[in-house]
Amino acid sequence: MKVLIIGGGISGLSAAYHLQKLNLPAQITLIEKEKRLGGKIETVCQNGFIIETGPESLVSYKPEAIHLCQELGLSSDIIHSIPENRKTSLYFNGKLIPLPEGIFSAFSAPAAQTVKALLKTPLLSPVGKLRMGLEPFIPAKKLEEDETAGSFFARRLGKEFFENLISPFLSGIYGGDPENLSMKSILPTFYSAEKKYGSFLKAIRANKKQKLPAEQTSPFVSLKNGLGSLVAKLSDSLINVSVEQGKIALSIRKNVKRYQVTLNTGETLEADIVLLTAPVQISGKLLKEIDPKLSDLLQEIPCSSASVITFGFNEKDLTPPLNSYGFLISRKENLPILACTLSSNKWEGRAPDGKFLMRFYANTILDDPKKITQLIFKHLDSVFKIKKDPELFLVHSHPRVMPEYRVYHQKKLEQIQTLLSNHKGLFLAGNAFQGIGISDCIQSGIKAAEQICQFIP
Ligand SMILES: Cc1cc2nc3c(=O)[nH]c(=O)nc-3n(C[C@H](O)[C@H](O)[C@H](O)COP(=O)(O)OP(=O)(O)OC[C@H]3O[C@@H](n4cnc5c(N)ncnc54)[C@H](O)[C@@H]3O)c2cc1C
Repeated sequence: MKVLIIGGGISGLSAAYHLQKLNLPAQITLIEKEKRLGGKIETVCQNGFIIETGPESLVSYKPEAIHLCQELGLSSDIIHSIPENRKTSLYFNGKLIPLPEGIFSAFSAPAAQTVKALLKTPLLSPVGKLRMGLEPFIPAKKLEEDETAGSFFARRLGKEFFENLISPFLSGIYGGDPENLSMKSILPTFYSAEKKYGSFLKAIRANKKQKLPAEQTSPFVSLKNGLGSLVAKLSDSLINVSVEQGKIALSIRKNVKRYQVTLNTGETLEADIVLLTAPVQISGKLLKEIDPKLSDLLQEIPCSSASVITFGFNEKDLTPPLNSYGFLISRKENLPILACTLSSNKWEGRAPDGKFLMRFYANTILDDPKKITQLIFKHLDSVFKIKKDPELFLVHSHPRVMPEYRVYHQKKLEQIQTLLSNHKGLFLAGNAFQGIGISDCIQSGIKAAEQICQFIP
């Protein structure tokens, strides 16, 4: 049996690694478009700075990535974000306002702490707080239907709660329009809390007796030498997989028995099993000839772009906010960026002594990053008090990479699964299906490997 994996990002690499572990009677080949493996994950070392050009953290509450690091012998490289700096703020009305802790860990944080933080936050007006307090009296929706995040939070906790507290977080993670994201897909715990307890605030209270997992530690984790070291270890471990970098899959056809994948090199590879892990729009295009309907469904999943702008400063040339991982930016500020991570405050060892590393995240491709940066720093002058230009300035653009899980995403996945089941030996994995985080992608690779294992006689 020949297995062909298309795409060498974390989803494809994780699938290849797990297939190898399952020791199947199959020949496994992985095709990657770029000369480099890892897809969105890349660490660059420059002037003593350790720079993540895409993702910069793993989350401990989704343990697949940490388990994989441990399995690959990276346990001693795992670092936790610096706990005393864990404050995150929202840049709103020209000021940094601390975000109340525990909104998204509301079901594991102590109820009193979460409620107190919400009552104290200046991000809600007295009317907004009153509206939030009415939440237990709002009848729960009975139907099992999906709902947009905008509608769910506005209905239960008020529009102001959504706009000032929820929307910036969702923008920072998903990039696209947070209003239209699917509650069932992106915040299933909140969605089911309403179904189970009838109210979000009642659900928080019901969980007050739960023991806190690592209450004081931040949920963010990384690797001493950056996330690129996970990709490097993973690739090195693929001794029974033929990895072909710098080759692009251009089309897929199928005859009665096998798939034929044509590459940019002119080669056509035959395979009994094809696993697509390329970005969803590309996987969709590759399936055009085999199944136009499936192809369309995949391409209908909207994807927003992302840019990361990294700066390395001399510490004495700016005054970054203290004890803080960074801040989110309210859309009301009309700035072309959504978040700022103060990497040197968040992680040990990201900058050489006397230097400071930070990055901005935007949900577009920036036409003129230098000009935009000047505009941002001018706007944020009161936050950073910059005295001199940075010594390091890097921009990384990621066109159409962040799938937006819009309302009824789960229904779409069911339709995709139904169509996919008509094509024996064809599988899909990646960040467009059951989660966009690195752990979700690893999990999707593992799941695909297990499905392939069941398929092989
Ligand atoms: C700026 C940014 C910040 C992020 N921050 C975080 C974070 O902090 N934590 C977190 O958990 N997640 C984060 N994410 C999300 C996470 O990084 C991605 O969802 C994940 O890395 C996607 O992995 P993947 O393997 O599914 O896709 P990709 O990484 O996109 O890999 C797909 C691969 O397929 C290859 N390919 C494409 N076309 C072809 C073709 N025709 N033939 C062969 N190969 C092809 C590509 O070159 C690529 O290597 C972030 C993402 C971005 C963009």
